[in-house]
Amino acid sequence: MAPTAPPPLEGKKRRIAVMTSGGDAPGMNGAVRAVVRMAIAQGCEAFCIYEGYEGLVQGGDMIKRTEWEDVRGYLSEGGTLIGTARCASFRERPGRMKAAKNMVIAGIDALIVCGGDGSLTGADTFRKEWPGLLEELVSKQELTAEAIKPFKYLNIVGLVGSIDNDMSMTDATIGCYSSLHRICNSVDSINDTAQSHQRAFIVEVMGRHCGWLALMAGISTGADFLFIPEQPPEKDWKKEMCSIIHEHRKRGKRVTIVIVAEGAQDQELNKITPDEIKDLLSNDLKLDTRVTTLGHVQRGGAPCAYDRMLSTLQGAEAVKAVLEAQPDTPSPIISIIENKIIRKPLLEAVELTNEVAVAIKARNFDKAMNLRDAEFAEYLKGYNITTALNQPTSKRPENERMRVGIIHVGAPCGGMNAATRAAVSYCFSRGHTPVALHNGFSGLIRHHSDEPIGSVREVQWLDADGWTSRGGSEIGTNRTLPSEDMKTVAAVFKKYNIQSLFIVGGFEAFCALSELRVARQEFEEFKIPMVLLPATVSNNVPGTEYSLGSDTCLNALIEYCDTCRQSASSSRRRVFVIETQGGESGYIATIAGLSIGAMAVYTPEEGVNIKMLDRDIDHLREVFAKDRGQARAGKIILRNEKASKVYTTQIIADIIMAEAKGRFEARVGIPGHFQQGKEPSPMDRVRGVRFGVKSLQHLEAKFKLSKQELVDDPMSCAVIGIKGASVQFSSMLKVETEETDWKHRRPKDEYWTKMKPLVDMLSGRPPVEGNG
Ligand code: ATP
Repeated sequence: MAPTAPPPLEGKKRRIAVMTSGGDAPGMNGAVRAVVRMAIAQGCEAFCIYEGYEGLVQGGDMIKRTEWEDVRGYLSEGGTLIGTARCASFRERPGRMKAAKNMVIAGIDALIVCGGDGSLTGADTFRKEWPGLLEELVSKQELTAEAIKPFKYLNIVGLVGSIDNDMSMTDATIGCYSSLHRICNSVDSINDTAQSHQRAFIVEVMGRHCGWLALMAGISTGADFLFIPEQPPEKDWKKEMCSIIHEHRKRGKRVTIVIVAEGAQDQELNKITPDEIKDLLSNDLKLDTRVTTLGHVQRGGAPCAYDRMLSTLQGAEAVKAVLEAQPDTPSPIISIIENKIIRKPLLEAVELTNEVAVAIKARNFDKAMNLRDAEFAEYLKGYNITTALNQPTSKRPENERMRVGIIHVGAPCGGMNAATRAAVSYCFSRGHTPVALHNGFSGLIRHHSDEPIGSVREVQWLDADGWTSRGGSEIGTNRTLPSEDMKTVAAVFKKYNIQSLFIVGGFEAFCALSELRVARQEFEEFKIPMVLLPATVSNNVPGTEYSLGSDTCLNALIEYCDTCRQSASSSRRRVFVIETQGGESGYIATIAGLSIGAMAVYTPEEGVNIKMLDRDIDHLREVFAKDRGQARAGKIILRNEKASKVYTTQIIADIIMAEAKGRFEARVGIPGHFQQGKEPSPMDRVRGVRFGVKSLQHLEAKFKLSKQELVDDPMSCAVIGIKGASVQFSSMLKVETEETDWKHRRPKDEYWTKMKPLVDMLSGRPPVEGNG
């Protein structure tokens, strides 16, 4: 057979291919878009392989050169637009041989695979066999020795795309949070009807070997009980479950939700079915019980903000990994640990993942849990502590029990209530008393005659039970700072015997805690442990890279942008200049820009100038000139509310309109308070619970100190946050003095600013010469 390979690649552009494989997952399209555009931006040629390994084995039209414009609009689409398939022939060597030949013919020597553990195992096998496959192709005279010369090494990079979040060595897989969104929406809806009829619902969610979705759904919806494969319930689980649910009902709860992972089983590996649980609840507890199996709705729909961001960052990183790979570099997967994109060895990740299934089969459940990431075990522990009320063994000794003041400061945002509910539940499980300080510090600074009264109330279990899924602030919030009347604040603390303080809020909350810390010198009442959990849509609190509420905000914002863009589709050439919140921080604008593929993002950090506008308008002219109608949809420019005093959102739109000279038009969009979101996103809920529990544990640990030790220990007044790959407490003193840009009310070092060039690059925005 005549060899059909192209001439050697030396001196030619690298050719990088991307494919999606295994089960589809929302966000896969974002990964394809990022790989294609990043590859092109790096001077390579990009290819898409259609229908997963099937396309690689069949070759021909299934391997297509892909241009910048071809992936326009991909970010917001669910599923995978380049298709996926289960391909039996790739599991066998002859199938992989055909695939190798097709790759050489297309001139491709780097493959980025977005899929689950099966797909990535296949990819790694392919790489290992690659030299042998090529030799065999030569010996069979299907390719010439000359033709294979430039293809000595195959680069493989894995992107983990799977809704189950079942891969080891990464906190999240592309698609898992979108799936969690679908589940939470469904359970929230079920909750309403269950509440009306006082019913119980058993909800089955996906996850044959991995309980991540079930666990996170349980946490985000405040479910009464859950079943996951890695940690089967105790032998007498039927009794335990009924007792917990009975206790919840006794306290006045009208609804019962039990979440069951598909792969739920008991310690003898017998499957636990939703119907079995239903019978128990119906017969033993006499509850009107229904079963809902969510099925494939969990896979579908538009990707959430996090998946768009994750797939974009990881897709770009995958291309970098290809270009940096040496012949002996092991194939990596691109993972994320907390907030950090990291490369991990593919083979080890797959092996560890497989070990979980083996451990479960061998009934070594502790090992199975240990093999999952540490975060998973922490979430499960957090769920158990905040759910099961009847655990007398977990109560603290009398002298270690505290009255915990809980206060919200600043604007309301998603996740505040989830964190508060977790703190309250934690208090009940440990014997502490949760005390709500209503309506922020303004609620405390109230007098009756000369007597300070304060809006202070002990929280009852039932009050807080339904809070996890609610937006806003259930205990009320306010921007007032304690300095307005520090003396009264101290008097109220004394009157209600507040022994530790949990503050939830944004930059005002940060200022409030700073004031209380300083006021310790004057007031004994503040010599207590205090923790701030940052919560604000602006994500501008020093001491953390992530504030509760910012994910909810991003989701609201991308929904708004998607809707604007769609309104212009098929008929109009229109630019929307959309004004985002964020105060003096461009975080929300930048990450939303990354998640929707904005044409330009204007931030307070960079400012706006005439050169920038000129360049961006030129760019818009070019884009619309090239647009032959196939992708005629609205373009988005995001402008943070404080990006410029001169160039307001309206003025920018007016300038664009004037300069477009009728070739396109510009409109303003101001989503305003819509950005606070309605229901908190699942990420804000689960992180709210996790950080809420951690904060209370921190307070507990510091409560053991004497007053003097407390004053001497900077960590007795701390802020909890994500920094890089870990969750940490930082002392307020250090954060205030070293990490805070007080003038601009934001951290000095904003980690996300490094992503800004990527937003520009992926939208093709040309750089402005001389612009810093
Ligand atoms: P999901 O998490 O959705 O199941 P997955 O990638 O694990 O995704 P699989 O069906 O296991 O899904 O694998 C997808 C495809 O990858 C298979 O159809 C097959 O073509 C290829 N593949 C899987 N395992 C191997 C293997 N061990 N060797 C070669 N190819 C494999």
